[in-house]
Amino acid sequence: MRTVDDLRNILARIDGRGYKAYKDLQGAYAYPRFTLFIDHVQGDPFASPSKIRVRVSGAVAKLPPDLFSGRVRRMALQDFLIREVHHAIRQVCQGNRGIGKSGLIAIDVGGQEVLERTAMVVTPQWVEARLSLGLPAQGRTILGRQAEAMFCHEMPEIAERALKWEHVDRERAHAFVDCVDNQESIRAQLDALGLVAFIADGAVLPRGSGASDRPLSRERAQPFRAPDSLRMSIPVLHPVSQDGRLTHSLTGCGIPQGVTLIVGGGYHGKSTVLRALERGVYPHVPEDGREYVVTTEQAVKIRAEDGRSIERVDISGFIKNLPYGQDTAQFSTDNASGSTSQAASILEAVEVGATALLLDEDTSATNFMVRDARMQALVHKEHEPITPFVDRVRELYERHGVSTVLVMGGCGDYFDVADTVIAMQDYQPLDVTEEAQRIAREFRTQRAIETTAPLSEITYRIPVWTSLDSSRGKREVKIEARSVDAIAFGHEVIDLSGVEQLVDASQTRAIGYALHLASCRLMDEGLKAMVQGLVEFFDDAGLDGLDPYHQGERHPGNFARPRAFEIAAALNRLRTLRIRE
Ligand code: ADP
Ligand code: MG
Repeated sequence: MRTVDDLRNILARIDGRGYKAYKDLQGAYAYPRFTLFIDHVQGDPFASPSKIRVRVSGAVAKLPPDLFSGRVRRMALQDFLIREVHHAIRQVCQGNRGIGKSGLIAIDVGGQEVLERTAMVVTPQWVEARLSLGLPAQGRTILGRQAEAMFCHEMPEIAERALKWEHVDRERAHAFVDCVDNQESIRAQLDALGLVAFIADGAVLPRGSGASDRPLSRERAQPFRAPDSLRMSIPVLHPVSQDGRLTHSLTGCGIPQGVTLIVGGGYHGKSTVLRALERGVYPHVPEDGREYVVTTEQAVKIRAEDGRSIERVDISGFIKNLPYGQDTAQFSTDNASGSTSQAASILEAVEVGATALLLDEDTSATNFMVRDARMQALVHKEHEPITPFVDRVRELYERHGVSTVLVMGGCGDYFDVADTVIAMQDYQPLDVTEEAQRIAREFRTQRAIETTAPLSEITYRIPVWTSLDSSRGKREVKIEARSVDAIAFGHEVIDLSGVEQLVDASQTRAIGYALHLASCRLMDEGLKAMVQGLVEFFDDAGLDGLDPYHQGERHPGNFARPRAFEIAAALNRLRTLRIRE
């Protein structure tokens, strides 16, 4: 293996030459305390940056094995170390050293959620950070001395500060890993407790602003306190502090399975609760405020998304007898309406195993949610294709085991179908179930139930795999995550702006490549089997294999793990998707 002196010599030799000479750097270099792998050298200063890995042996890093024993703890430690590297880069890296991305060093760091990512790998033998690095240039001329400063000063300093236990903030590392472990242990208990979610007392749900995912300041935020009737206690694996005491269990509000309504006046905090539940499918960093808001992994946010495409989804349980006799048992469109999109999203989620639906009146189609008595009198059923959600929500739970949490401040017709009614008042939850039920008895709804037949059995669709084509021009695979909610996939752009539980562009990128991987395997199986296959693939082999050019040891690219539901959601929004008849 080449040494760091060889690296210095190469840089001295190519200094001042054309950018392409940087290609000579490709390879592995033994440093005194770690190994550097230069896997990919960028073509020019503006291209996506070069890809490198820094590997520190276990004997040097000395990370305590207890912090990476088991899948959850390893994932948490890896995420923590990514944040440490990110922090070290900010302290050590000079930054801009020329044109384009010259001088940049970056690691794919997450936000408030803790995700499995390819940017860090911890094994008993070594710890490896996967980074991007902008090789410095002025014009197209190599700045060898600047590169030397990056490789010989900044990189060793970053490795030293972030990947060696003696320099890591140990208390924070333990707290981080234990906190994520606790969150996952709560999630594992939800089903047995008959819950779709748990919100701990003291949780801070509101965010700093509409543009910030960080918590609202402690002075301004009202911490959550469970209503007494819904308060329960859940054991956790590691001690936590609650109400200023160190305990082995958390008290909080259990959100039961079944149909739960969140009611209350405008601006009293309803949507904030629902958003916390949406994000609660992922673990959060300590101090997020929502770290002990834990939702079942199978919960899917459903919203209206007019304009999306739909391919052969049986929405006839919600929508039937469209104008011109369009078939809704295998409904396809390039331009869905609010109500058809919402119906399709529900059935697609249930198709791949959702056990809880999260809906907010703010993002729902009114006509999909309810039709009141007066409207029923004016517009007769034979002229209204929609069977509103209020007439299906109980059936979804009772016959299909799918719970719903619904924010609904505007319509009391839902009182008849709710098991639990929580009112948000001045940002605090109250259990108003009994009162809502009494009101439902006293003020009988005048509306008629509109179901004529039960929901049909869930259909398991089989995609035509050739309808997923990620090639473009000469490129066999052209996939790019432009942002968290858009994937360029071959000639198509998949719009994921209505898929609200995607939180990270690296998840989006992973989904793009996951769809490619699934299409390559030319599976003769259904969409559900496909996403299950991908989940197993991730469980067994991690995310590294998502890179289509991945072979042996190489920087796999920046991926974060998506859920099965978001993979399916992306496929369902690919406009070229075709489903077998
Ligand atoms: P609703 O859906 O009931 O109309 P929102 O959930 O949108 O209300 O909340 C309205 C505003 O109140 C938002 O700016 C939100 O950040 C803030 N808010 C929500 N919950 C809290 C809380 N617990 N403490 C302080 N502010 C909050
Ligand atoms: Mg709202």
